[in-house]
Amino acid sequence: MLKGKTALVTGSTSGIGLGIATALAQQGANIVLNGFGDTDGAQAAIRSLGVKVAYHGADMSHASEIEAMMKFAADTFGRVDILVNNAGIQHVAPIQDFPVDKWDAIIAINLSSAFHATRMALPAMQAANWGRIINVASTHGLVGSAEKSAYVASKHGVVGLTKVTALENATSGVTCNAICPGWVLTPLVQKQVDAKALALGLSNEDAKKQLLQEKEPSMQFTTPEELGALAVFFCSPAANNVRGVAWNMDGGWTAQ
Ligand code: NAD
Repeated sequence: MLKGKTALVTGSTSGIGLGIATALAQQGANIVLNGFGDTDGAQAAIRSLGVKVAYHGADMSHASEIEAMMKFAADTFGRVDILVNNAGIQHVAPIQDFPVDKWDAIIAINLSSAFHATRMALPAMQAANWGRIINVASTHGLVGSAEKSAYVASKHGVVGLTKVTALENATSGVTCNAICPGWVLTPLVQKQVDAKALALGLSNEDAKKQLLQEKEPSMQFTTPEELGALAVFFCSPAANNVRGVAWNMDGGWTAQ
């Protein structure tokens, strides 16, 4: 379905980003990966699907590096047809103790990076009258949780940015939508499981159960594969008129 298209997925060396990049590659899209950690492993996994893959190591907290990444993607593959703004980080602390540098980093990486990549991707999408922008927000783009001020603020911001991007392009072939996952067992959430296990003297399995019990009636983690399938739907012709939604995939978290 996506043969000949190019998808750039930020923060795609692990977790949800890699899951979405994999699902788009399975539909034939060439992929530009970004993120830290096992960059060779991520590239090899995508290349094994028979598509072209490129990697750019831009740090999403710097506008100038995001600009360089967008230029690199356009130079390598012609243009970016699908932009997935996925890179994100978390820090947990009450507001009065929240480190200012962590606040700044979370707003920059989770929210401002999506603005910068979007503003640079739009002109070519508008010229082609086709584009898909998918913002990975969170249930925390829809509801709050204690001790996650920067994350919740950034994700509510991402949902707002999604609506405005969708509206400004509503009469064109460029759509923008957000995905709002509940708990997904990636390195980002494993850190929170580890903290809970340590604080409460629980095993890894019991800490996971407790995390789910607090928020997700389904008692199941959402998987990167399920989120990848939703991203593929947003890129399909059936989603031509799906614009500005914040689609939760959260085991009932926000239905409560
Ligand atoms: P993860 O830690 O597995 O992946 C994060 C990715 O972002 C990695 O590739 C990492 O290298 C990259 N990254 C981090 N800082 C970066 C920076 N400064 N510049 C470039 N890349 C950077 O986490 P994940 O759980 O897959 O998270 C992906 C997205 O999904 C995030 O936006 C997160 O907020 C969101 N999300 C996660 C969950 C969950 O339960 N895991 C739930 C809802 C939303």
